[in-house]
Amino acid sequence: MILLISDLHLQEERPDITRAFLDLLDGRARHAKALYILGDFFEAWIGDDAMTPFQQSICQAMRQLSDSGTAIYLMHGNRDFLIGQDFCDAAGCTLLADPSVIELGGEQVLLMHGDTLCTRDLAYMKLRRYLRNPLSLWILRHLPLSSRHKLARKLRSESRSQTRMKATEIVDVTPEEVPKVMAVHGVRTLVHGHTHRPAIHKLVVDGQPARRIVLGDWDRRGWTLQVDEQGFQLAPFEFSANG
Ligand code: MN
Repeated sequence: MILLISDLHLQEERPDITRAFLDLLDGRARHAKALYILGDFFEAWIGDDAMTPFQQSICQAMRQLSDSGTAIYLMHGNRDFLIGQDFCDAAGCTLLADPSVIELGGEQVLLMHGDTLCTRDLAYMKLRRYLRNPLSLWILRHLPLSSRHKLARKLRSESRSQTRMKATEIVDVTPEEVPKVMAVHGVRTLVHGHTHRPAIHKLVVDGQPARRIVLGDWDRRGWTLQVDEQGFQLAPFEFSANG
């Protein structure tokens, strides 16, 4: 059995989400062969050298799971793209490129965070190109901590105010972009997060039936995609009341 999750936006201010994640690690994930985290795992990440005690505790819990035999794969999201090799080494997880094609449930499956599918949001795509090129990443990683904190706050507040103003079609994926990307990678199944619109969409790629599985964000409840003998099951679960 394999589990996929995304968009937990882990942060100290949401102990309920943290509890639900730790419960998943102690429960279902123990029986899984692998756990895939498809981005925006943390609400913010300003560098592996700036881990808070909260982030350390998440790191240790992941380490325990990987030591127990469950492989953990982590993909960057738009909020935690500064997660680096030091964190992954400590947490016992493998950094997964966006996009990646893996074998899942007996077929080739394309995994993405999902932000690169939202091509109609031109301002975001431009910002992404700027922030995610190797030179910018190097500079970001070497900025003093105080500057990184300031920049992270600025990006978050800009993203919040812009998302409110943008039309909903803009912050969702571009429908024409999906079959294009899937055809390039030769897959019939795509799994991504980012949009916070959990669903399984049927579509046609190169004349063949295909599907786009969108993971849900963890807010009032959690979401997992479980892949086992019964196939691909996308389902929400309630946070425990005393969590
Ligand atoms: Mn995202």
